[in-house]
Amino acid sequence: MRDLFVYNSLTRQKEKFSPINDGFIGMYVCGPTVYSDVHLGNVRTFMSFDMIYRYLNYLGYKVRYVRNITDVGHLTDDGEDRMSKGAKKDQLEPMEVAHKYTVGFHDMMRIFNTHSPDIEPRATGHIIEQIEMVQQIIDNGYAYEQNGSVYFDTISFMKEHKYGELSGRVVDELLTETRDLKNQNEKRHPSDFAIWMKASDDHLMKWNSPWSIGFPGWHLECSAMSTKYLGKSFDIHGGGNDLKFPHHENEIAQNVGACKCSPANYWLHTNMLLMNGKKMSKSDGNTITPTELFTGDSPHVTKGYDPMVVKFFMLQAHYSSTIDLTNDGLLAAEKGYKKLMESIKVLESLESNSETGSLDEQVEVLLESLHQNMSDDFNAPKVIANLFELVAKINGLKGGQLKLEDISKSCLDKMKKHIHEFVFDILGLKDELSSDNNSHYMEGLMSLILDIRQNSREKKDWDTSDKIRDTLNELEIKIKDGKDETSWSLN
Ligand code: AMP
Ligand code: ZN
Repeated sequence: MRDLFVYNSLTRQKEKFSPINDGFIGMYVCGPTVYSDVHLGNVRTFMSFDMIYRYLNYLGYKVRYVRNITDVGHLTDDGEDRMSKGAKKDQLEPMEVAHKYTVGFHDMMRIFNTHSPDIEPRATGHIIEQIEMVQQIIDNGYAYEQNGSVYFDTISFMKEHKYGELSGRVVDELLTETRDLKNQNEKRHPSDFAIWMKASDDHLMKWNSPWSIGFPGWHLECSAMSTKYLGKSFDIHGGGNDLKFPHHENEIAQNVGACKCSPANYWLHTNMLLMNGKKMSKSDGNTITPTELFTGDSPHVTKGYDPMVVKFFMLQAHYSSTIDLTNDGLLAAEKGYKKLMESIKVLESLESNSETGSLDEQVEVLLESLHQNMSDDFNAPKVIANLFELVAKINGLKGGQLKLEDISKSCLDKMKKHIHEFVFDILGLKDELSSDNNSHYMEGLMSLILDIRQNSREKKDWDTSDKIRDTLNELEIKIKDGKDETSWSLN
Protein backbone atom coordinates (compact mmCIF):
# COMPACT_ATOMS: atom_id res chain seq x y z
CA MET A 1 0.00 0.00 0.00
CA ARG A 2 1.21 3.53 -0.83
CA ASP A 3 2.60 5.56 2.12
CA LEU A 4 0.19 8.12 3.50
CA PHE A 5 1.19 11.22 5.46
CA VAL A 6 -1.26 13.11 7.65
CA TYR A 7 -1.00 16.23 9.76
CA ASN A 8 -1.69 15.13 13.31
CA SER A 9 -3.10 18.00 15.41
CA LEU A 10 -2.07 16.16 18.57
CA THR A 11 1.65 16.16 17.77
CA ARG A 12 1.46 19.25 15.55
CA GLN A 13 3.38 17.55 12.77
CA LYS A 14 2.94 15.64 9.59
CA GLU A 15 3.39 11.93 10.27
CA LYS A 16 3.53 8.75 8.29
CA PHE A 17 0.21 7.05 8.85
CA SER A 18 0.35 3.63 10.40
CA PRO A 19 -2.92 1.94 11.41
CA ILE A 20 -3.35 -0.06 14.61
CA ASN A 21 -4.41 -3.13 12.62
CA ASP A 22 -2.84 -3.67 9.21
CA GLY A 23 -5.29 -2.89 6.43
CA PHE A 24 -8.04 -1.59 8.75
CA ILE A 25 -8.89 1.93 9.88
CA GLY A 26 -11.26 3.12 12.58
CA MET A 27 -12.33 6.73 12.06
CA TYR A 28 -14.64 8.79 14.28
CA VAL A 29 -15.93 12.20 13.20
CA CYS A 30 -18.03 14.44 15.43
CA GLY A 31 -21.39 14.76 13.71
CA PRO A 32 -23.91 17.59 13.65
CA THR A 33 -26.06 18.89 16.47
CA VAL A 34 -29.47 18.43 14.88
CA TYR A 35 -31.39 21.42 16.23
CA SER A 36 -31.42 23.54 13.07
CA ASP A 37 -30.66 23.29 9.36
CA VAL A 38 -27.14 22.26 8.54
CA HIS A 39 -25.11 25.26 7.37
CA LEU A 40 -22.41 25.44 4.75
CA GLY A 41 -19.65 25.46 7.35
CA ASN A 42 -20.84 22.09 8.65
CA VAL A 43 -21.04 20.88 5.05
CA ARG A 44 -17.42 21.84 4.47
CA THR A 45 -16.24 19.79 7.43
CA PHE A 46 -18.27 16.68 6.52
CA MET A 47 -17.32 16.99 2.85
CA SER A 48 -13.64 17.06 3.81
CA PHE A 49 -13.96 13.89 5.88
CA ASP A 50 -15.92 12.29 3.06
CA MET A 51 -12.97 12.93 0.75
CA ILE A 52 -10.60 11.49 3.36
CA TYR A 53 -12.84 8.41 3.78
CA ARG A 54 -13.02 7.96 0.01
CA TYR A 55 -9.24 8.13 -0.35
CA LEU A 56 -8.58 5.71 2.52
CA ASN A 57 -10.94 3.26 0.82
CA TYR A 58 -9.25 3.90 -2.52
CA LEU A 59 -5.86 3.06 -0.98
CA GLY A 60 -7.32 -0.33 -0.08
CA TYR A 61 -8.07 0.09 3.64
CA LYS A 62 -11.21 -1.38 5.14
CA VAL A 63 -12.50 1.69 6.95
CA ARG A 64 -15.10 1.78 9.70
CA TYR A 65 -16.33 5.36 9.63
CA VAL A 66 -18.41 6.38 12.63
CA ARG A 67 -20.09 9.80 12.65
CA ASN A 68 -22.51 10.55 15.45
CA ILE A 69 -25.69 12.56 15.67
CA THR A 70 -25.72 14.91 18.67
CA ASP A 71 -29.31 14.99 19.86
CA VAL A 72 -28.78 15.82 23.54
CA GLY A 73 -26.38 17.60 25.88
CA HIS A 74 -24.85 20.22 23.56
CA LEU A 75 -25.59 23.37 25.54
CA THR A 76 -25.63 26.99 24.44
CA ASP A 77 -23.39 29.49 26.23
CA ASP A 78 -26.38 30.24 28.49
CA GLY A 79 -26.59 26.58 29.53
CA GLU A 80 -29.71 25.71 27.54
CA ASP A 81 -29.80 22.40 25.66
CA ARG A 82 -29.76 23.23 21.93
CA MET A 83 -32.37 20.56 21.26
CA SER A 84 -34.78 22.12 23.80
CA LYS A 85 -34.12 25.52 22.28
CA GLY A 86 -34.97 24.12 18.82
CA ALA A 87 -38.06 22.40 20.23
CA LYS A 88 -39.38 25.63 21.74
CA LYS A 89 -38.65 27.59 18.56
CA ASP A 90 -40.39 25.07 16.28
CA GLN A 91 -43.04 24.04 18.87
CA LEU A 92 -42.07 20.40 18.54
CA GLU A 93 -40.96 17.55 20.77
CA PRO A 94 -37.13 17.46 21.02
CA MET A 95 -37.17 14.09 19.23
CA GLU A 96 -39.24 15.59 16.42
CA VAL A 97 -36.64 18.33 16.12
CA ALA A 98 -33.84 15.77 16.03
CA HIS A 99 -35.63 13.73 13.39
CA LYS A 100 -36.53 16.71 11.23
CA TYR A 101 -32.99 18.08 11.09
CA THR A 102 -31.35 14.65 10.81
CA VAL A 103 -33.43 14.01 7.68
CA GLY A 104 -32.51 17.48 6.37
CA PHE A 105 -28.84 16.81 7.08
CA HIS A 106 -28.91 13.47 5.24
CA ASP A 107 -30.67 15.07 2.26
CA MET A 108 -28.04 17.78 2.08
CA MET A 109 -25.19 15.30 2.35
CA ARG A 110 -26.73 13.35 -0.54
CA ILE A 111 -27.06 16.50 -2.65
CA PHE A 112 -23.33 17.06 -2.11
CA ASN A 113 -22.66 13.45 -3.12
CA THR A 114 -21.08 12.36 0.15
CA HIS A 115 -21.12 8.78 1.42
CA SER A 116 -23.05 7.79 4.49
CA PRO A 117 -20.83 6.76 7.43
CA ASP A 118 -20.75 3.05 8.28
CA ILE A 119 -22.32 3.68 11.70
CA GLU A 120 -24.24 6.79 12.71
CA PRO A 121 -24.98 6.49 16.44
CA ARG A 122 -27.24 8.93 18.26
CA ALA A 123 -26.35 10.22 21.69
CA THR A 124 -29.87 9.55 23.04
CA GLY A 125 -29.54 5.90 21.97
CA HIS A 126 -26.41 5.47 24.11
CA ILE A 127 -27.40 6.78 27.54
CA ILE A 128 -26.52 3.48 29.25
CA GLU A 129 -23.02 3.48 27.76
CA GLN A 130 -22.56 7.09 28.89
CA ILE A 131 -23.71 6.33 32.44
CA GLU A 132 -21.27 3.40 32.54
CA MET A 133 -18.43 5.61 31.40
CA VAL A 134 -19.23 8.28 34.02
CA GLN A 135 -19.15 5.53 36.65
CA GLN A 136 -15.76 4.27 35.39
CA ILE A 137 -14.33 7.78 35.60
CA ILE A 138 -15.66 8.17 39.17
CA ASP A 139 -14.28 4.72 40.12
CA ASN A 140 -10.86 5.69 38.76
CA GLY A 141 -10.85 8.81 40.93
CA TYR A 142 -11.19 11.44 38.20
CA ALA A 143 -14.75 12.63 38.80
CA TYR A 144 -16.95 13.62 41.73
CA GLU A 145 -20.65 14.05 42.33
CA GLN A 146 -22.12 17.32 43.56
CA ASN A 147 -25.88 17.84 44.02
CA GLY A 148 -26.73 15.13 41.48
CA SER A 149 -24.32 16.39 38.79
CA VAL A 150 -20.98 14.73 38.10
CA TYR A 151 -17.88 16.76 37.27
CA PHE A 152 -14.60 15.70 35.74
CA ASP A 153 -11.87 16.47 38.26
CA THR A 154 -9.21 18.16 36.17
CA ILE A 155 -6.90 18.75 39.13
CA SER A 156 -6.66 15.12 40.23
CA PHE A 157 -6.40 14.11 36.55
CA MET A 158 -3.49 16.48 35.98
CA LYS A 159 -1.54 14.94 38.84
CA GLU A 160 -1.06 11.83 36.70
CA HIS A 161 -1.86 12.82 33.11
CA LYS A 162 -1.54 15.69 30.69
CA TYR A 163 -4.56 17.92 30.15
CA GLY A 164 -4.50 20.58 27.41
CA GLU A 165 -2.12 18.73 25.07
CA LEU A 166 -4.35 18.87 21.99
CA SER A 167 -5.34 22.52 22.22
CA GLY A 168 -1.96 23.59 23.59
CA ARG A 169 -3.67 25.43 26.41
CA VAL A 170 -2.06 25.72 29.80
CA VAL A 171 -4.03 25.49 33.01
CA ASP A 172 -4.19 29.26 33.55
CA GLU A 173 -5.80 29.68 30.15
CA LEU A 174 -8.16 26.81 30.82
CA LEU A 175 -9.26 28.56 33.98
CA THR A 176 -10.02 31.85 32.32
CA GLU A 177 -11.61 30.30 29.23
CA THR A 178 -14.11 28.11 30.96
CA ARG A 179 -17.58 29.35 30.06
CA ASP A 180 -19.62 27.16 32.34
CA LEU A 181 -20.50 29.97 34.75
CA LYS A 182 -23.82 28.43 35.71
CA ASN A 183 -22.28 25.53 37.60
CA GLN A 184 -19.31 27.44 38.96
CA ASN A 185 -20.45 27.02 42.58
CA GLU A 186 -20.75 23.26 42.38
CA LYS A 187 -17.38 22.69 40.79
CA ARG A 188 -14.27 22.19 42.90
CA HIS A 189 -12.20 23.95 40.31
CA PRO A 190 -13.22 26.27 37.43
CA SER A 191 -11.58 24.03 34.80
CA ASP A 192 -13.65 20.99 35.89
CA PHE A 193 -16.44 20.14 33.47
CA ALA A 194 -19.78 18.36 33.77
CA ILE A 195 -20.03 14.80 32.50
CA TRP A 196 -23.52 14.23 33.92
CA MET A 197 -25.94 17.07 34.63
CA LYS A 198 -28.86 17.03 36.99
CA ALA A 199 -31.95 18.24 35.11
CA SER A 200 -34.28 20.92 36.40
CA ASP A 201 -38.01 20.02 36.58
CA ASP A 202 -38.80 21.83 33.34
CA HIS A 203 -35.90 20.26 31.43
CA LEU A 204 -37.28 18.30 28.48
CA MET A 205 -34.77 15.49 27.89
CA LYS A 206 -33.72 13.55 30.98
CA TRP A 207 -32.95 10.03 32.11
CA ASN A 208 -32.56 8.14 35.36
CA SER A 209 -29.02 7.60 36.60
CA PRO A 210 -27.25 6.64 39.87
CA TRP A 211 -26.73 10.36 40.58
CA SER A 212 -29.93 12.13 39.48
CA ILE A 213 -32.56 12.38 36.81
CA GLY A 214 -30.47 14.21 34.30
CA PHE A 215 -28.61 14.12 31.02
CA PRO A 216 -25.07 13.44 29.82
CA GLY A 217 -22.47 16.05 28.93
CA TRP A 218 -21.85 16.68 25.23
CA HIS A 219 -18.16 15.72 25.40
CA LEU A 220 -19.00 12.45 27.08
CA GLU A 221 -21.28 11.20 24.33
CA CYS A 222 -18.47 11.14 21.75
CA SER A 223 -16.14 9.32 24.19
CA ALA A 224 -18.81 6.69 24.88
CA MET A 225 -19.85 6.15 21.26
CA SER A 226 -16.36 6.10 19.77
CA THR A 227 -15.28 3.54 22.41
CA LYS A 228 -18.35 1.40 21.82
CA TYR A 229 -17.92 1.14 18.04
CA LEU A 230 -14.16 1.55 17.52
CA GLY A 231 -12.64 0.37 20.79
CA LYS A 232 -10.59 2.15 23.44
CA SER A 233 -7.93 3.08 20.89
CA PHE A 234 -8.62 3.73 17.25
CA ASP A 235 -6.85 5.40 14.36
CA ILE A 236 -8.41 8.73 13.35
CA HIS A 237 -10.57 11.24 15.18
CA GLY A 238 -11.86 14.22 13.23
CA GLY A 239 -13.93 17.36 13.47
CA GLY A 240 -13.79 21.10 12.85
CA ASN A 241 -10.94 22.93 14.57
CA ASP A 242 -13.45 24.91 16.65
CA LEU A 243 -14.03 21.63 18.52
CA LYS A 244 -10.40 21.23 19.66
CA PHE A 245 -11.20 22.95 22.90
CA PRO A 246 -13.06 22.10 25.00
CA HIS A 247 -14.82 19.25 23.17
CA HIS A 248 -11.89 17.17 21.92
CA GLU A 249 -9.59 18.04 24.79
CA ASN A 250 -12.23 16.79 27.20
CA GLU A 251 -12.90 13.69 25.13
CA ILE A 252 -9.24 12.73 25.52
CA ALA A 253 -9.35 13.38 29.27
CA GLN A 254 -12.52 11.29 29.66
CA ASN A 255 -11.14 8.36 27.67
CA VAL A 256 -7.90 8.40 29.61
CA GLY A 257 -9.91 8.80 32.81
CA ALA A 258 -12.17 5.86 32.01
CA CYS A 259 -10.05 3.48 29.92
CA LYS A 260 -6.50 4.61 30.78
CA CYS A 261 -5.62 5.24 27.15
CA SER A 262 -5.87 8.09 24.70
CA PRO A 263 -8.66 7.42 22.19
CA ALA A 264 -7.16 8.24 18.81
CA ASN A 265 -3.65 8.12 17.37
CA TYR A 266 -4.28 10.80 14.74
CA TRP A 267 -6.41 13.90 15.25
CA LEU A 268 -7.46 15.61 12.02
CA HIS A 269 -9.06 19.05 12.11
CA THR A 270 -10.76 20.93 9.32
CA ASN A 271 -10.61 24.69 9.18
CA MET A 272 -13.50 27.12 9.07
CA LEU A 273 -15.55 28.32 6.14
CA LEU A 274 -15.63 32.11 6.05
CA MET A 275 -17.92 34.38 4.12
CA ASN A 276 -16.63 37.71 2.82
CA GLY A 277 -13.63 37.37 5.14
CA LYS A 278 -15.52 36.62 8.38
CA LYS A 279 -16.38 33.30 10.02
CA MET A 280 -19.72 32.08 8.74
CA SER A 281 -22.01 32.38 11.71
CA LYS A 282 -25.73 32.47 12.19
CA SER A 283 -25.69 34.91 15.10
CA ASP A 284 -24.34 37.93 13.17
CA GLY A 285 -26.21 37.18 9.95
CA ASN A 286 -23.05 36.29 8.05
CA THR A 287 -24.56 33.11 6.72
CA ILE A 288 -26.10 31.57 3.67
CA THR A 289 -27.93 28.26 3.60
CA PRO A 290 -27.02 25.67 0.98
CA THR A 291 -30.50 26.08 -0.54
CA GLU A 292 -30.08 29.87 -0.87
CA LEU A 293 -26.79 29.22 -2.60
CA PHE A 294 -28.41 26.77 -5.06
CA THR A 295 -31.29 29.11 -5.90
CA GLY A 296 -29.33 32.37 -5.74
CA ASP A 297 -31.92 33.76 -3.34
CA SER A 298 -29.46 35.69 -1.15
CA PRO A 299 -27.84 39.14 -1.21
CA HIS A 300 -24.46 37.40 -0.96
CA VAL A 301 -24.61 35.90 -4.50
CA THR A 302 -25.61 37.19 -7.93
CA LYS A 303 -26.99 33.84 -9.12
CA GLY A 304 -27.61 30.24 -8.06
CA TYR A 305 -24.83 27.66 -8.14
CA ASP A 306 -24.99 23.94 -8.74
CA PRO A 307 -24.08 21.85 -5.63
CA MET A 308 -21.13 20.36 -7.55
CA VAL A 309 -19.81 23.86 -8.26
CA VAL A 310 -20.03 24.64 -4.54
CA LYS A 311 -18.25 21.37 -3.78
CA PHE A 312 -15.55 22.07 -6.37
CA PHE A 313 -15.12 25.54 -4.86
CA MET A 314 -14.60 24.10 -1.39
CA LEU A 315 -12.18 21.41 -2.59
CA GLN A 316 -9.91 24.09 -4.01
CA ALA A 317 -8.67 24.88 -0.50
CA HIS A 318 -6.79 22.41 1.69
CA TYR A 319 -9.08 21.04 4.40
CA SER A 320 -6.88 22.57 7.11
CA SER A 321 -6.93 26.10 5.61
CA THR A 322 -9.75 28.57 5.91
CA ILE A 323 -11.74 29.23 2.77
CA ASP A 324 -13.62 32.41 2.00
CA LEU A 325 -16.93 32.01 0.20
CA THR A 326 -17.38 34.89 -2.25
CA ASN A 327 -19.47 35.32 -5.36
CA ASP A 328 -16.31 35.87 -7.44
CA GLY A 329 -14.79 32.69 -6.07
CA LEU A 330 -17.93 30.74 -6.94
CA LEU A 331 -18.02 32.19 -10.48
CA ALA A 332 -14.40 31.14 -11.00
CA ALA A 333 -15.16 27.67 -9.57
CA GLU A 334 -18.10 27.31 -11.95
CA LYS A 335 -15.85 28.04 -14.91
CA GLY A 336 -13.20 25.62 -13.68
CA TYR A 337 -15.68 22.85 -12.91
CA LYS A 338 -17.28 23.11 -16.37
CA LYS A 339 -13.89 23.10 -18.05
CA LEU A 340 -12.89 19.98 -16.13
CA MET A 341 -16.12 18.13 -16.91
CA GLU A 342 -15.99 19.08 -20.59
CA SER A 343 -12.43 17.90 -21.01
CA ILE A 344 -13.24 14.60 -19.30
CA LYS A 345 -15.89 14.09 -21.99
CA VAL A 346 -13.33 14.95 -24.66
CA LEU A 347 -10.85 12.54 -23.08
CA GLU A 348 -13.39 9.69 -23.30
CA SER A 349 -13.66 10.28 -27.05
CA LEU A 350 -9.89 10.25 -27.70
CA GLU A 351 -8.33 7.08 -29.09
CA SER A 352 -4.75 6.17 -29.90
CA ASN A 353 -3.26 3.15 -31.65
CA SER A 354 0.34 3.96 -30.79
CA GLU A 355 2.45 1.57 -28.76
CA THR A 356 4.78 4.29 -27.52
CA GLY A 357 4.59 8.05 -27.38
CA SER A 358 6.78 11.06 -26.65
CA LEU A 359 4.05 12.52 -24.38
CA ASP A 360 3.84 9.43 -22.18
CA GLU A 361 6.49 10.46 -19.71
CA GLN A 362 4.97 13.90 -18.99
CA VAL A 363 1.52 12.37 -18.55
CA GLU A 364 2.88 9.62 -16.27
CA VAL A 365 4.57 12.26 -14.08
CA LEU A 366 1.30 14.17 -13.73
CA LEU A 367 -0.66 11.02 -12.93
CA GLU A 368 1.88 10.08 -10.28
CA SER A 369 1.55 13.62 -8.82
CA LEU A 370 -2.17 13.04 -8.30
CA HIS A 371 -1.34 10.12 -6.01
CA GLN A 372 1.57 11.85 -4.28
CA ASN A 373 -0.44 14.97 -3.52
CA MET A 374 -3.45 13.09 -2.24
CA SER A 375 -1.17 10.93 -0.06
CA ASP A 376 0.42 14.09 1.30
CA ASP A 377 -2.28 14.98 3.84
CA PHE A 378 -5.10 14.81 1.28
CA ASN A 379 -3.95 17.82 -0.69
CA ALA A 380 -7.02 18.32 -2.90
CA PRO A 381 -5.99 21.79 -4.22
CA LYS A 382 -2.72 20.38 -5.56
CA VAL A 383 -4.61 17.43 -7.06
CA ILE A 384 -6.93 19.91 -8.81
CA ALA A 385 -3.90 21.84 -10.11
CA ASN A 386 -2.49 18.56 -11.52
CA LEU A 387 -5.86 17.81 -13.11
CA PHE A 388 -5.78 21.15 -14.92
CA GLU A 389 -2.31 20.38 -16.26
CA LEU A 390 -3.82 17.18 -17.64
CA VAL A 391 -6.79 19.18 -19.01
CA ALA A 392 -4.28 21.28 -21.00
CA LYS A 393 -2.89 18.06 -22.52
CA ILE A 394 -6.39 16.78 -23.36
CA ASN A 395 -7.35 20.06 -25.02
CA GLY A 396 -4.06 20.04 -26.93
CA LEU A 397 -4.79 16.54 -28.21
CA LYS A 398 -8.31 17.54 -29.21
CA GLY A 399 -7.27 20.85 -30.79
CA GLY A 400 -4.39 19.36 -32.76
CA GLN A 401 -1.56 21.22 -30.99
CA LEU A 402 -0.53 17.81 -29.65
CA LYS A 403 -0.72 14.68 -31.78
CA LEU A 404 -2.64 11.60 -30.75
CA GLU A 405 0.08 9.38 -32.20
CA ASP A 406 2.45 10.92 -29.62
CA ILE A 407 0.62 9.26 -26.75
CA SER A 408 0.48 5.49 -26.44
CA LYS A 409 -2.79 3.63 -26.13
CA SER A 410 -1.81 2.29 -22.71
CA CYS A 411 -0.91 5.77 -21.42
CA LEU A 412 -4.17 7.24 -22.75
CA ASP A 413 -6.16 4.44 -21.11
CA LYS A 414 -4.30 4.96 -17.84
CA MET A 415 -5.03 8.67 -18.01
CA LYS A 416 -8.75 7.97 -18.53
CA LYS A 417 -8.82 5.57 -15.59
CA HIS A 418 -6.90 7.75 -13.14
CA ILE A 419 -8.66 11.01 -13.96
CA HIS A 420 -11.98 9.26 -13.58
CA GLU A 421 -10.95 7.80 -10.22
CA PHE A 422 -9.64 11.06 -8.84
CA VAL A 423 -12.47 13.30 -10.01
CA PHE A 424 -15.44 11.05 -9.32
CA ASP A 425 -14.36 8.41 -6.78
CA ILE A 426 -11.96 10.41 -4.59
CA LEU A 427 -12.98 14.08 -4.87
CA GLY A 428 -16.57 12.86 -5.07
CA LEU A 429 -17.66 15.19 -7.89
CA LYS A 430 -20.51 14.32 -10.24
CA ASP A 431 -20.87 15.36 -13.84
CA GLU A 432 -23.88 17.63 -13.54
CA LEU A 433 -23.49 18.70 -17.17
CA SER A 434 -24.82 15.35 -18.31
CA SER A 435 -26.92 14.65 -15.25
CA ASP A 436 -30.54 13.48 -15.15
CA ASN A 437 -31.42 17.10 -14.56
CA ASN A 438 -30.01 18.20 -17.89
CA SER A 439 -31.45 15.28 -19.80
CA HIS A 440 -34.81 16.17 -18.27
CA TYR A 441 -34.51 19.71 -19.69
CA MET A 442 -33.36 18.32 -23.02
CA GLU A 443 -36.38 16.02 -23.23
CA GLY A 444 -38.74 18.92 -22.43
CA LEU A 445 -37.16 21.30 -24.94
CA MET A 446 -37.07 18.70 -27.73
CA SER A 447 -40.70 17.81 -27.19
CA LEU A 448 -41.59 21.53 -27.42
CA ILE A 449 -39.55 22.02 -30.61
CA LEU A 450 -41.04 18.94 -32.27
CA ASP A 451 -44.56 20.14 -31.38
CA ILE A 452 -43.86 23.52 -33.02
CA ARG A 453 -42.51 21.72 -36.07
CA GLN A 454 -45.58 19.50 -36.25
CA ASN A 455 -47.91 22.53 -36.02
CA SER A 456 -46.05 24.37 -38.76
CA ARG A 457 -46.25 21.28 -41.01
CA GLU A 458 -49.98 21.04 -40.42
CA LYS A 459 -50.31 24.72 -41.38
CA LYS A 460 -48.06 24.07 -44.38
CA ASP A 461 -45.59 26.61 -42.96
CA TRP A 462 -42.66 24.85 -44.64
CA ASP A 463 -40.21 27.70 -43.91
CA THR A 464 -40.51 27.16 -40.16
CA SER A 465 -40.49 23.37 -40.29
CA ASP A 466 -37.42 23.36 -42.63
CA LYS A 467 -35.63 25.85 -40.40
CA ILE A 468 -36.18 23.61 -37.36
CA ARG A 469 -34.97 20.52 -39.24
CA ASP A 470 -31.84 22.30 -40.58
CA THR A 471 -30.93 23.82 -37.21
CA LEU A 472 -31.29 20.46 -35.48
CA ASN A 473 -29.16 18.93 -38.24
CA GLU A 474 -26.44 21.47 -37.56
CA LEU A 475 -26.57 20.54 -33.89
CA GLU A 476 -26.21 16.90 -34.93
CA ILE A 477 -29.67 16.04 -33.63
CA LYS A 478 -31.36 13.55 -35.94
CA ILE A 479 -35.15 13.52 -36.19
CA LYS A 480 -37.18 10.68 -37.58
CA ASP A 481 -40.83 11.07 -38.59
CA GLY A 482 -42.77 7.97 -37.60
CA LYS A 483 -46.42 7.07 -38.35
CA ASP A 484 -47.77 8.56 -35.10
CA GLU A 485 -44.93 10.63 -33.70
CA THR A 486 -41.53 12.08 -34.43
CA SER A 487 -38.53 10.75 -32.48
CA TRP A 488 -35.09 12.30 -32.05
CA SER A 489 -31.58 11.12 -31.27
CA LEU A 490 -28.09 12.56 -31.02
CA ASN A 491 -25.92 11.76 -34.01
P1 AMP B 1 -22.20 21.37 15.17
O1 AMP B 1 -23.45 20.98 14.44
O2 AMP B 1 -22.18 22.79 15.62
O3 AMP B 1 -21.93 20.40 16.31
O4 AMP B 1 -21.00 21.24 14.13
C1 AMP B 1 -20.80 20.13 13.29
C2 AMP B 1 -19.42 20.22 12.65
O5 AMP B 1 -19.32 21.36 11.78
C3 AMP B 1 -18.28 20.36 13.66
O6 AMP B 1 -17.21 19.49 13.28
C4 AMP B 1 -17.88 21.81 13.55
O7 AMP B 1 -16.52 22.01 13.87
C5 AMP B 1 -18.11 22.08 12.06
N1 AMP B 1 -18.28 23.51 11.75
C6 AMP B 1 -19.09 24.42 12.37
N2 AMP B 1 -18.98 25.66 11.80
C7 AMP B 1 -18.08 25.54 10.79
C8 AMP B 1 -17.54 26.45 9.80
N3 AMP B 1 -17.90 27.74 9.71
N4 AMP B 1 -16.63 25.93 8.91
C9 AMP B 1 -16.26 24.62 8.94
N5 AMP B 1 -16.74 23.72 9.84
C10 AMP B 1 -17.63 24.16 10.76
ZN1 ZN C 1 -17.71 14.93 19.37
